[in-house]
Amino acid sequence: MTGINHILTGGIIAGAMAHPVAIPLAFASHFVLDALPHYAYGDDNPRSGDPVWKVDSLLILTFFYILLSLGLASGAWIAAGAVAAFSPDIILVYRFFGQERLGRVKPRALSSSFNEFHKNIQHHETRTGIVDEIIFFVASLWLFDRLFL
Ligand SMILES: [Zn+2]
Repeated sequence: MTGINHILTGGIIAGAMAHPVAIPLAFASHFVLDALPHYAYGDDNPRSGDPVWKVDSLLILTFFYILLSLGLASGAWIAAGAVAAFSPDIILVYRFFGQERLGRVKPRALSSSFNEFHKNIQHHETRTGIVDEIIFFVASLWLFDRLFL
């Protein structure tokens, strides 16, 4: 799942609950979303040439900028949930920018049992999953608006 969808989901969970138990729930939401149909890079469209990560990065930055600008009462919870929900993919960001993009180290197979689990739950990754991503994004934005704005 794209980062912005993880972030919106975690932010909604934590912002709506405003309770410490929301943080592990937001973290767990990452794996639920990764098990749903979603977009994936393929051998015929490697990440480095794909615009989705750029749009995703821009949406993530915009989300945090707007969140900080609004000064919502539940803003800290939303931010904490967003970070918790995105956190399992932080290693992927490191690998993408530090290794593949900058070419410091050649990409290699994910190796830890956690990363194997993370990879293996993503059975429904397709290029057409971008439609699922967009629908999920719009629905999440609507819910976010209804709850917090
Ligand atoms: Zn993931």
